[in-house]
Amino acid sequence: MYDVNSLRSDFPILERQVYGHPLVYLDNTATTQTPRCVVEAIENVYYNTKANVHRGVHTLSQEATDLQEATRERVREFINAKSTEEIIFTRGTTEAINLVASSYGDLLENGDEIILTVMEHHANIVPWQLLGRRKRIILRIVPINEKGELDMVAYRSLFNDRTKLVAVCHVSNVLGTVNPIKEMIAEAHSNGVPVLVDGAQAISHMKVDVQDLNADFYVFSSHKMYGPSGVGVLYGKKYLLEMMPPYQGGGEMIGQVSFDHTTFAALPFKFEAGTPDFVDIAAFHTAIDYMTSIGVERIAEHEHELLTYTTEKMMEIPGMRIFGTAPGKCAVISFLIGNEHHYDIGMLLDKLGVAVRTGHHCAQPLMSALGIEGTVRASFAMYNTKAEADAFIAALRRVSSMLG
Ligand code: PMP
Repeated sequence: MYDVNSLRSDFPILERQVYGHPLVYLDNTATTQTPRCVVEAIENVYYNTKANVHRGVHTLSQEATDLQEATRERVREFINAKSTEEIIFTRGTTEAINLVASSYGDLLENGDEIILTVMEHHANIVPWQLLGRRKRIILRIVPINEKGELDMVAYRSLFNDRTKLVAVCHVSNVLGTVNPIKEMIAEAHSNGVPVLVDGAQAISHMKVDVQDLNADFYVFSSHKMYGPSGVGVLYGKKYLLEMMPPYQGGGEMIGQVSFDHTTFAALPFKFEAGTPDFVDIAAFHTAIDYMTSIGVERIAEHEHELLTYTTEKMMEIPGMRIFGTAPGKCAVISFLIGNEHHYDIGMLLDKLGVAVRTGHHCAQPLMSALGIEGTVRASFAMYNTKAEADAFIAALRRVSSMLG
């Protein structure tokens, strides 16, 4: 049995009130809330083992290092990477993509092409555009159909002998569409092209096996996985990471330094310059344990029930327009009511205790393709309940009638 009420008691923030209403937190796509055990893990490092990692012979430093490296192994196991050498800690998805754009980008030449999709988050667009300031890089964009699914015929037609990378989200943060990543990777590989998967919106909603997907790079953020903020992961195939030059220079990433010549550390440390966020990395382990103890597939099933239930109720509201109706989508609902402004809907919902996201969701090219400026977005996580879905619908009906 999925006991959502007992699980909710692990998240103190869910007891909060907003404007005198019980908080209904439906902004999980932006960040998920954090269970007590993760906060306690952070506290434990600060109170008992805080010391810089990989630096000292003393006990605390060794314990702190062991905690960090245990998380690396936990992440490896969680995504079924071959080796911990392939797990790089970053500040988040954004930094992981910037790392690849900078370092893998160094290997590209003027006139090379990268395939993106129209549903990418700015984090998977702008780093490639910045690379374009150093070299002439052509971005080819895969369009979507009216359900919010990628046009796979167009995708296949975009490859040519200048294509050097595909960078695509596993799940859209606006539409909830789950892209056919495995098929897309196979297609890219048949053209000799590696694939970077932005897994920020997939990792806490489905089992991810990087070897089964055969992904070349896979990136995600801890704060969307019930974990601490400030930590992310870049998974990269060893042969690619070995070919790539370092991203940033500093301590930790070197072999030997002199003013004439510097050598670099072995993987994964070559890409981890400076003191990492070792406290949060240690606690990230607890978040992964917590999530897996409940079961990612069971969480997804629960979220999916809420998605189906809420979508049906929403469709009864006059003027409801839902963006993203792909079969099997994740529990993200982007919508507008008639021509009402998304900001007004979001602000009024907040007054009723319902936290949703409004705006372009860092996906302005997608908004342009949809012919809108923004949407309201409600998204579910493991701790949301049917009662909250009902409260959201009731609030939405009220807002809809207030706006006329
Ligand atoms: N990609 C996608 C699909 C996202 O949803 C997000 C977060 N909204 C990001 C990238 C960026 O993640 P972060 O801000 O944690 O680096």
